[in-house]
Amino acid sequence: MNKFLTLLSTVIFASVICITESSFAKGKPLEKQYDATQVVKNVYVIHGPLELPNVANQGFMNNPAFILTEKGVVVVDPGGSLQIGEMLLAAIKKVSAMPIIAVFNTHVHGDHWLANQAILEQYPNVPIYGHPNMIEQVDNGAGKQWVDLMLRSTDGATEGTQYVNANKSATHGSKYTFGSTVIETIYLDSAHTNTDLMFYLPNQAVIFLGDNAGYGRILRNDGGSFSGNIAALNYALESGANVYVPGHGMTGGKEAASEYRDYLSLILEEVKKGYEDDLSDFEIKPLLSPSMDRWKDWSGFEQEFGKHLSQIFLEIEAEDF
Ligand SMILES: [Zn+2]
Repeated sequence: MNKFLTLLSTVIFASVICITESSFAKGKPLEKQYDATQVVKNVYVIHGPLELPNVANQGFMNNPAFILTEKGVVVVDPGGSLQIGEMLLAAIKKVSAMPIIAVFNTHVHGDHWLANQAILEQYPNVPIYGHPNMIEQVDNGAGKQWVDLMLRSTDGATEGTQYVNANKSATHGSKYTFGSTVIETIYLDSAHTNTDLMFYLPNQAVIFLGDNAGYGRILRNDGGSFSGNIAALNYALESGANVYVPGHGMTGGKEAASEYRDYLSLILEEVKKGYEDDLSDFEIKPLLSPSMDRWKDWSGFEQEFGKHLSQIFLEIEAEDF
């Protein structure tokens, strides 16, 4: 009996050590230096790599951004890991000593928001805004799934990252004022996902598109709507913005939204025609492929084009019934 108790306490002790060790394990800081680009006065974007999360990019693949206001710094999409958030905090310190006063998350995909953790560790009371659908999905499993996905795809580089959900709901038509900076939130309906907020800054004529657009990168559509995605980009293009910040790829003028809109529209129109002619998605693909030259060198095109075509086919079929 004594022997058994000794064994049992050894096992318990060993597992306590294991748990303690794993909760303190932390991946290394980002190895590569990424600079923040001022896209208009007081609005900065760190343009992340275009590839999917991998060992080399340590999970960094989105466009974290920050806005300097008279009241403090506002962050949009801090990134996909604790380490990326720490890189962003260091980049902000280089240009401002002001505190972070708000964080806005564009949508549920963790490559955009898992770095909320880094911001909250330094600013425990900071409001983090996200769409109610995002908040619900993160709580119901998406948060944990994204932590695991980033860990797996980076071979543990994001270790130490825990999901910290948005703590304030934002929907269509909300307005947030920080000194002379106004941020308007736009949510029309399902687009890239069913959680996508866009942020429009009327005084700077800048719009953050989230993953409703990639520029130089084709994005996975995940439970969203292609016609909704096109509608969201058309709305953005009519917003009055001069500067468009996509979820992935370089910031630009209208082309940073319209190229992706055109990609989706062309597939949608051609699939509609094919559907009316009783063609299957497999028969439409070779007819459409030669028209896709504008996008064929974009990152993700090979993986996503065929999938998008089939998803759009199903969307048209569903609307028909
Ligand atoms: Zn996304």
